[in-house]
Amino acid sequence: MGSNVGDRVGICCAAIERLRCHLDVADVRVSPFFETEPYGVTDQPPFINLTVEMATTQSPHTLLKTLKNMENDLGRVYRYRWGPREIDLDILLYDDRVISSDTLKVPHPEMHKRAFVLVPACEICPEWEHPVLKKTLSQLLSGLSREGVSRYEGTVPCV
Ligand code: AMP
Repeated sequence: MGSNVGDRVGICCAAIERLRCHLDVADVRVSPFFETEPYGVTDQPPFINLTVEMATTQSPHTLLKTLKNMENDLGRVYRYRWGPREIDLDILLYDDRVISSDTLKVPHPEMHKRAFVLVPACEICPEWEHPVLKKTLSQLLSGLSREGVSRYEGTVPCV
């Protein structure tokens, strides 16, 4: 997940809380929080990024709907593509599934190129194998620069 508008840490904590309490999920594991320079459109505030690993009975498409509803509930305003956002909740991986529909692509098509995704993900599941690239997340991260991705030094009330 990521946030770069408003109370970034508080919104991410609210999202984690919802995943923990209001969804049909179990065993929610949360990475440390990272502060990251914006990627793509760089003229915007830095992001808080973190990753979550969880078990759920929701299908991938149902989970996507749930996450998009949660974004709305948490106050996400759509501005422009890759623009600032209160909260962004994406599915990176779902077991070893490969999905390519109009609305959902899993693994997330950009995840292997992004240190702001792989640095937090490697804190909780470094040995997870990318089902298309056949490399672990740790191996994928070893090919990337970690520049612009640092541990968030402030207080995180929810972990
Ligand atoms: P976003 O700008 O990140 O909120 O994503 C916009 C759209 O990307 C969503 O409405 C989804 O239909 C689509 N999408 C495709 N693959 C994914 C994924 N793995 N996780 C989240 N959204 C996805």
